[in-house]
Amino acid sequence: MRLIVLGAGSIVPTPYRFGSGHYVEAGEIKLLLDCGPGVLEKMRSLSLSPFKLTAVLLTHFHIDHVSDIFPLLKLRAFTPEGLPNRSPDELRIFGPRGLKRFLGTLIDNNEFFSYVKTLMRYESYTSLEEVEPWGVYEFGGVRLTSAPAKHDGGVAYRIDFGGVSLVYSGDTAYSEDLVKLAKGVDVLVHECSFPHERIVGQHVSEVELARIVAQVRPETVVVTHLYPIWEGEEHKLVSTLEQSYRCRVVVARNGTELTI
Ligand SMILES: [Zn+2]
Ligand SMILES: [Zn+2]
Repeated sequence: MRLIVLGAGSIVPTPYRFGSGHYVEAGEIKLLLDCGPGVLEKMRSLSLSPFKLTAVLLTHFHIDHVSDIFPLLKLRAFTPEGLPNRSPDELRIFGPRGLKRFLGTLIDNNEFFSYVKTLMRYESYTSLEEVEPWGVYEFGGVRLTSAPAKHDGGVAYRIDFGGVSLVYSGDTAYSEDLVKLAKGVDVLVHECSFPHERIVGQHVSEVELARIVAQVRPETVVVTHLYPIWEGEEHKLVSTLEQSYRCRVVVARNGTELTI
């Protein structure tokens, strides 16, 4: 399995970190974990084809995690050369409860975007799956498991493939469900939005993340979804994590790559 971080940041872009996006390759299966602003451009710059994506796993519907889903859905109606595609490959989209209403509201029932339905017929090449808590989905040798996150109805995902595993938290406050989902995972990709003294909203700081890592005991933790306030202060995050549990710590930037 291969992980490439496309967007390791928040809604406020920095030179190193932009809105959420994580590309995972598992054999023939190509997954996009969240699809925030700039993800398509990051894929282009790394020569990753959006036409070859098997599935998008959305964790929740905040703009920094979903905004590029609209250009992606429209793009799939074309060929890589930019000509109309008569038989686009199917794109599966997984997301929490509300996924169908989300696209229904912003595409089908939106007079400005509804041409993506009426003209491009995006539904003919897209399948939508609202994941159930602890739902398990298997395709192409991948076993996908979802669990509730603590963040506006969001979910976290676990991917098992070929004897290795990865968990992606999306946005979340400390969540026992996530710890359960991630127990013993090889790679834990977890958000750490703010330093402890500046924590805002349903997120975790380095202090909570250290506790999570000690409970999960992963081989590697990839820290993502960092707000700009972390820039230049990442060493504090790493030292707090290292005091809690010894494992490989990777503070993600756009383009961070890992083979699992
Ligand atoms: Zn969020
Ligand atoms: Zn976010």
